[in-house]
Amino acid sequence: MSIYAQVAKEGESRRVLALRSPIDLQPIGELVCANRDDVRAAVARARAAQPAWAARTFRARAAIMERALRVLLARQDEVVETVVRETGKARLDAMSMEIFAAADSLCYYAKNAERFLKPQKKRVHGLLGIAKQLRIVYRPLGVIGVITPWNGPFILAMNPAVQALMAGNTVVLKGSEVTPYSTRLAEDIFREAGLPEGVLQVLMGDGETGAHLVESEVDKISFTGSVRTGRLIAEACGRRLVPCTLELGGKDAMIVCEDADLDRAAAGAIVGSCMNTGHYCCGTERIYVVEAVYDAFLAKVVEGTRKLRQGSALGFEEDVGAVFWDRQMAIIEDHVADARAKGATIHVGGRRNPELPGLYYEPTVMTEVNHDMQIMREETFGPIICIQKVRDVEEALRLANDSPYGLNGNVWTRDKEKGVAIATRLDTGSVSVNDMAMSYGVPAAPFGGRKESGIGQVNGEVGLRGYCHAMPVLIDRFGGKDLPSAYPYTQKKAEGMRKLMNFLWTTPIGRWLS
Ligand code: NAD
Repeated sequence: MSIYAQVAKEGESRRVLALRSPIDLQPIGELVCANRDDVRAAVARARAAQPAWAARTFRARAAIMERALRVLLARQDEVVETVVRETGKARLDAMSMEIFAAADSLCYYAKNAERFLKPQKKRVHGLLGIAKQLRIVYRPLGVIGVITPWNGPFILAMNPAVQALMAGNTVVLKGSEVTPYSTRLAEDIFREAGLPEGVLQVLMGDGETGAHLVESEVDKISFTGSVRTGRLIAEACGRRLVPCTLELGGKDAMIVCEDADLDRAAAGAIVGSCMNTGHYCCGTERIYVVEAVYDAFLAKVVEGTRKLRQGSALGFEEDVGAVFWDRQMAIIEDHVADARAKGATIHVGGRRNPELPGLYYEPTVMTEVNHDMQIMREETFGPIICIQKVRDVEEALRLANDSPYGLNGNVWTRDKEKGVAIATRLDTGSVSVNDMAMSYGVPAAPFGGRKESGIGQVNGEVGLRGYCHAMPVLIDRFGGKDLPSAYPYTQKKAEGMRKLMNFLWTTPIGRWLS
């Protein structure tokens, strides 16, 4: 999508943006941005709807998720069509990333939310345990503001929404101005599934609308997007003293060891770098290959990349789609130009596709890259495979960790345990061994970046609990009967406490009791 104009409309107090498709740059509609009043009204509706939604049983909430799953499967072609029109992504990318993953998320949280959030009994340690019981009760936070980017416009809305809803919250969600209609479908699908009014509302708008949402009376912000916006949101949440999770950008490294299965590793490098036109937060952006297998690996990657099919017929037989919007194209072109000027070698691609009228960049393989180049330091987010030769795994690890980002990473070796040992030395949020980054698609894996790649974790049990307040309930075992009062304070009580401390922490039996 490209936003090519701001349209002034008589009598309209909202900004109106004109949109055009990345496939052929033809106009495809307008986006009316929600203003501050629209945002406030939506949050007020969500606030009013929340108690009744939270009062429903998990089973009742799960039934709606199950219905949404059936609606999604029935309407999958329409979702794919909308996503492809707005983004130009390959049709199979749309089906796997948006539909399959959203269906999996609906099913997983419908099945597991109750188990993750049921009240827990905890043992109270020491002498206090004689008199007290502890339960942890997970209470929904209230209204969650969800703000999402354009690279997965449907799944990145559905996945946090399902989690927040299953935890008993209501949601006001703002999708990206680049892909508004794909995100809007999340609301349509839930409405058809019977979600009550006000429980999930999708707002259309740009960054200004997002800023209004952050400043509104929401109880948490769940943000996915760039580091720059993430910082602004963290600052605003800090001022308001509301929690946020920030799922931000990445510059993920791949390490290829001497004993890797090179066919699989080369295939993983190509998919990891080019899937979703490279617009994948956990996309493979830097590849470090030990010198013993460098030539063989490079030959396989070059051969595989040459076979990739790029086109605008938008069928299932195309591998790499369009760049989703013009601003990303500018970044990709800048990074490639900078690398070329500093001595990189381009083996395949390295330019816009001259055969296609839209925003298409050819899948590219590049070597002789180093950390003085933007392409090895900043998020490129394009179908670019950057390969650097290293002496050994130690050098690969040093370079992989030499990054302001830390979202994901992957290691390739036939020795699984060695792979785990290397992978866990990467300073990143999550890692894969012998696969490109899949972690976001595995709900049981807590997902979140380190360093500038984000704050907090989403998905699975951790993510669901993140949409709740874990409230400890401390209960007196004896119904509060015959409890001696702490007052009045006396010298005698102080002496008694001193003796108790000596007994508890200096005698063997005391240590056992405490
Ligand atoms: P972006 O930060 O420009 O925009 C993201 C969202 O924030 C949009 O909806 C936008 O309208 C909104 N926004 C912009 N300014 C705002 C403000 N001041 N206050 C509130 N909201 C505001 O990011 P993008 O270009 O849409 O997305 C691409 C980025 O997202 C990449 O860096 C990518 O790595 C990252 N991403 C991260 C993950 C993850 O899970 N870590 C997943 C997907 C994408």
